[in-house]
Amino acid sequence: MPKLPFEDWIKPLTKDTIATLPSFLRNSAKQLYIDGREQPCAEGGTLETYNPATGQVLATLARGTSEDIDRAVAVARAAFNGPWSEYTPAERQGVLLSIADAIEANFEEFAQVESLDVGVPLHRVLGMKGAITNIIRFFASQALQCRGETFDSPYKGDFTSMILKAPVGVVGGIIPWNAPLISIWWILGGVLATGCTTVIKPAEDASLSALLMARVMSEAGLPDGVVNIVTGAGSVAGSALAHHPDVDRIAFTGSTATGREIIKASAVNMKRVQLELGGKSPDIIFDDADLERAVPGAAMGVYSNSGQICFAGTRVFVQRSIQDEFVEKLSAFSKTVKVGAPTAQDTMLGPLVSQAQLDRVMGYIQIGQDEGAKLVSGGNRLGGDLASGYYVEPTVFSGVSNDMRIAREEIFGPVISVIPFDTAEEALALANDTEYGLGGAVWTQNLGRAMKMVHGIKAGQVWVNCYGLIDPMVGFGGVKSSGYGWKGGTRHVDGYLYEKAVTLKAS
Ligand code: NAP
Ligand code: MG
Repeated sequence: MPKLPFEDWIKPLTKDTIATLPSFLRNSAKQLYIDGREQPCAEGGTLETYNPATGQVLATLARGTSEDIDRAVAVARAAFNGPWSEYTPAERQGVLLSIADAIEANFEEFAQVESLDVGVPLHRVLGMKGAITNIIRFFASQALQCRGETFDSPYKGDFTSMILKAPVGVVGGIIPWNAPLISIWWILGGVLATGCTTVIKPAEDASLSALLMARVMSEAGLPDGVVNIVTGAGSVAGSALAHHPDVDRIAFTGSTATGREIIKASAVNMKRVQLELGGKSPDIIFDDADLERAVPGAAMGVYSNSGQICFAGTRVFVQRSIQDEFVEKLSAFSKTVKVGAPTAQDTMLGPLVSQAQLDRVMGYIQIGQDEGAKLVSGGNRLGGDLASGYYVEPTVFSGVSNDMRIAREEIFGPVISVIPFDTAEEALALANDTEYGLGGAVWTQNLGRAMKMVHGIKAGQVWVNCYGLIDPMVGFGGVKSSGYGWKGGTRHVDGYLYEKAVTLKAS
């Protein structure tokens, strides 16, 4: 299988991994996870989750409602006020390290569950073991970094001024379906490092790895009630969590439209909110770029995870003098990107997550053609053995203008829009002509040009001569309609703490 320079982590599959049904799925009726155990939902409703590779039902989830959210929040509040509040930073660090070890030990099962539920190639999830456990161990280090400040007092006498930091309390976490195994940790990491507790509402389309995670965390020694999972519909369970008057903070990853609803709901009790939303990121290729790297780099900056990545560089701006050559090479590379069953070793892209997502992506491919963009490769749903799954070919449009819908709206599928530019100034103006500000990249050998783009692109993260790499020590965020609040880095834990100014007179 062709690998990109930064894809050394992809793991070979063994026959055993492919053939065994993860033991977690031998009982395919899943309940909520509250107070350290599986529990039925109050109204007894269910919803089905599908295997996107086959279109078959994979498991049945409990359809949680506001009653279940109330119960889970009460449990999380009791845990926050209970023994968990007595844990020292070093003890919380110990819990996080034990969880990292347990996830490492059970990683094959996590990978199988995630691959079956989301459609991501199994060898890719297996290869993410290090990335995920590194994030957890990073947050373990952050348990020891929750610190305030002291100041020389402005008052004469025996005064000390300080800022103390304390955990905000109960955190509501709402995550999307595209990479739940990793995105849940951008919430749990901050929660557990700081001594908060949480209720997580995973996406209907991909809740299974969150449920397995909760179970494994309990087995690894996490006290009951600290992490609770309520599955169900966003408009019901998610909305109830976002509106709940006893939730202190919401950490949300998902679409910009839902993000707006989360902000409105936060007004109920002035919740703190952190939002990681959609994107339409620019990837700018100058005429001096090393095309041997820029072509696969820009392509996989969109195609990875079948295009279902928030910071995908879906608007590829190419300097006009190399446009024809670039499009030709991009189209040739796209044809080598193998779409196939998640269990096959040579699969680079699995199916899209759901029928709804398939319809959305195919709809945009039609819109692009109707708008007059030139479809230069891909554009079809796959047939044959793959006809029952939600598979789409990697797709390239050239001759796109930045005001077409395919260049303005988030497609969340393996679809690239190539847009020409002449000057660096024009590239920047086009790059920033979007409501989003999540990511961006530039490919050039010229350091001056690179830095001009780094400073000029209005986005929470910019890559130079690479795409999509994330360092948990640095973290990432968004601006404009891509949301606010930093994830990762040493500032991450601050979002889970509130500040308290203290003036102390010693005598
Ligand atoms: P979505 O519809 O906003 O769903 C995200 C989560 O919110 C799901 O759990 C969903 O529940 C829930 N939800 C839906 N309506 C809600 C409401 N009224 N109140 C509370 N929760 C509600 O997003 P999506 O379409 O599934 O996911 C794709 C989007 O996520 C894309 O826009 C992508 O860019 C963004 N995303 C961003 C990042 C990032 O880090 N910036 C990462 C990944 C994805 P159900 O779906 O279960 O009903
Ligand atoms: Mg699924």
